[in-house]
Order: sequence, then C-alpha cells, then structure tokens
Amino acid sequence: MDHGLSVKTFRYGGIHPPYYKGSTAAKPIVSSTIPKEIYIPLSQHIGVPSKPIVKAGEHVKTGQKIGEAVANATSASIHSSVTGKVIAIGNRPHFTGFDMPCIVIRPDPVQEDVTFTGYPDFVRLSPDEIRGIVREAGIVGMGGATFPTHLKLSPPGDKTIESIIINGCECEPFLSCDHRSMVERPRDIITGIRIILHTLKARRAYIGIEINKMDALETVRGAISHESAMTVIPLSVKYPEGGEKQLIQAILDREVPLRKLPWEVGVLVFNIQTTIAIADAVVKGRPLFERVVTLSGPLLKNTQNLRVRIGTPIRHLIDQCGGFKEDPEKYIHAGHMRYDTKVLRLVFKGEFAKVIMGGPMTGFAQPNLFAPVVKGTSGVLAFPESMIPTETTRPCLKCGKCNSACPMLLMPSLMGVYVEQRKIGAAADCGILDCIECGCCAYVCPAHRPLIQLMRIGKGRILSRRKA
Ligand code: SF4
Ligand code: SF4
Repeated sequence: MDHGLSVKTFRYGGIHPPYYKGSTAAKPIVSSTIPKEIYIPLSQHIGVPSKPIVKAGEHVKTGQKIGEAVANATSASIHSSVTGKVIAIGNRPHFTGFDMPCIVIRPDPVQEDVTFTGYPDFVRLSPDEIRGIVREAGIVGMGGATFPTHLKLSPPGDKTIESIIINGCECEPFLSCDHRSMVERPRDIITGIRIILHTLKARRAYIGIEINKMDALETVRGAISHESAMTVIPLSVKYPEGGEKQLIQAILDREVPLRKLPWEVGVLVFNIQTTIAIADAVVKGRPLFERVVTLSGPLLKNTQNLRVRIGTPIRHLIDQCGGFKEDPEKYIHAGHMRYDTKVLRLVFKGEFAKVIMGGPMTGFAQPNLFAPVVKGTSGVLAFPESMIPTETTRPCLKCGKCNSACPMLLMPSLMGVYVEQRKIGAAADCGILDCIECGCCAYVCPAHRPLIQLMRIGKGRILSRRKA
C-alpha cells in the first residue's frame, strides 16, 4: 500500500494479518434499537466493581448513575443506558464467560434522559474539576483496556506529561468502530484532545492512524489544520500498531521500560472513543452509557457499525444484523456446539469461538449470546463452521517464529513450555508479565500451539500467587 506518505511503525516483531475491514469500513454508524432487557455489569473496568446505588423496583432514567465507583480504588461508576424499571440485581452472563453481578433494567416504551449539564467553556475548569467530571461520567479506556480514565488523567506529581497520543490505529482485523468515529466525529475528537491537553498541561498531541484508513486520516488532518498543538501521524498497517508501547515507540521513538507505564516517558495514550467520551462528558455533561460497536464476521447476514447502549445483549445486536447466515441448529447436529448454551464455539487462530466479543486477536470467545456489550466492547464477530481450522496442536518445533513475531521481545516458545510444566517462577523470570496478550506468537506458530492461552494462564497464576 503506497500512498506516498512517510509512515512510521514500531521496531520489533509484529505481523500482517489480512484486515477484513471492507464490509464495514464505509458503513455509517447507526443507532441500535433498545432490547427488552438490559444487563449492566457492575464490573466493566479493570479494578474494583462499582457499588449499586439503586434497588429492584426503582425507576431510572437514561444517563442516571446506578453504580458508584469505590472511593480510593481503581474503580468506575456506571449509568443506566435506558429509561425503565430496575427488575433485579443479580448474576447474568458476562463477556468473560462467567456469570457476574448486573443491574437488570426493563426499558419503558418512552425514553427520557436525565438533565445533562455540561461546560462548553471547559478552559475555565481546573484539571481537578475535569478529573471529577470524567470520574462521575464513568469513563474508562474504550479500546479494551478499560482502565478508569480519571486515574489515567492523574499521573504522579513527579511526572510531567509532555505529549499525548490518540490511538486511531484500530489494528485488529474486522473492527471499524474507531475508524467510523474518526470519519464522523472529528470535531469531538479535537475537543476531547483540547480537554486532555488542558487537564495534563501537556503541549502536544499526536493522532496515530494506520494508512488503511485514508478517509479517516484525511478527515482528521483537515479538521486539525488550525490546531498548532496537534499532528496526525500516518502509521504502517502492522499488528499490534495500536499497542500502547508500540505506538509510543513508533511515534516518539521512546521505549517505555519493562513493567512501567507510559508516563515514565512523559506520554499518555488515549483511544479514539475514549477521547470523544471525554468531550461528551465535559462539554455536554453526558456520562458514558453507549458506544460504537462493529458487528462483523462472515457468519453475519448484514455487517454494521452500531451505536449501542451499554448492557445490550449481543443476541439482540446479531438479530439486528439479520441473524446468522447459516442455521445454527446445524451445529447441534454436527456436534460442534449447542446454540445459546455453554458450548458455542469455533477455532480462530488459537481461540475457541464462534462469536467473539472484541477483535479476533485479543477478544473473548462467547459461550452465551446473552452476554451484554460493556464499555470496552469494540466488536462482536461471528464466524461460520467453515472457518474452524482442523489442525491439532503439536509439540513445539523450535522454529523460533513466535519469538521473532513478539513485539515485546519475549520468548513465547520457552514461556509456553514453562507454563505447561507449571514452572511459573521460570516463566516470570522470562518476563511473561510483560506479555501484552497480542496473539502474534499464536498467529505465526506452525505447530498451532495455544500460546496466548498459555501466556494468560501463566500471568494469572503469577498474579494470584502474589495476591495470596
Ligand atoms: S501474546 Fe505475549 S508473548 Fe505472544 S507475541 Fe504477544 S506479547 Fe509476545
Ligand atoms: S512458533 Fe510454535 S513451533 Fe515455532 S518455536 Fe514458537 S512455539 Fe515452537
């Protein structure tokens, strides 16, 4: 792909999967309909789940806070995404595959927002006031990391943030929700950037966009033409270009030290939809209760970019896309899966999934289609039986391909063996905690080793040991 642009990229590893974005990249964002029931999980972010502040039987309005962030903890508030009646607070399906506590709301036929009070003249607000608004709005990293944004906007006092990077890469195949947001809401992205610069007292903003999204790149570049503090940086199409550390290396040629955060090198990275959510919260007073989600994959009848209320079950979105192309009953008879029950799965490069929430490289296979969209849901992807690879996992061939593909300069082949052998200390010594779970290693492995699952298992074991 040669656009005559000077493009940047990260230095180590990476892969070039086909990007499969053609079926949704040019489709404008449309609003999803409201389902019969909404399940809003108390845990949609990294850290401590929010505490419910409503009870079953109460009536709530769209945008009303229904769960409070836990004080002095990594936590985020949640808001009702509809007007309706709280019918239960209890366990419901969650994208992680477990049942988790949710606030269940039955929407009314007539929807009504709470009164939103925004601050269009945000430069009069102090950084702490803006952090407070962002906290109240329940904003978290919407690229999937789901780290509470008010905490990201609060670096330690001894750290100076010189620059911010807005992540417009959307480097995972199939996803186009950030792409469409850049094409359709460039002014809100600029407002969000101004608010972040003001809050952090940072001087410069770089917007990194892969060159397979030229319409977005040109739209944003045109919109910032009078913004002297902002620059669009064209990036090559390489996965995981949007990884925080990879993006900082590509754009600023700075290395974030192992196990450290970007503020160590004077930078913070924000996702496109998070940036828009900050603008909506500060300028319009709107909390985070909806987001754009890409519905794609060869099994879906009509692929779309939908503006979805948080808590909408993915089954409702699939129905809105006309359902599946193939009759799912077939899978019951084929013995691969039972529809809408625990074993709804297909293999896609190491993950068992038929329906994936998120991108195909880092997303979660869904065992239950009633799991709801959460703040970090970028996509819902559905794959047919024909995409189930038939290869079985073989022992490591010691080819070294996974090590060359790793953007974190790790040795997944060795760490995978250590995890299998339960040598967790040795896996930790190899740096498994620095794994960003990008899946590059699994993608290139000719032995079809489940490397990303092994990395997740190894990291989980180390962290639970430390907790204990
Ligand atoms: S999943 Fe982890 S080990 Fe594998 S390539 Fe990515 S960072 Fe490296
Ligand atoms: S790519 Fe697979 S087979 Fe090759 S060294 Fe890595 S784990 Fe072993």
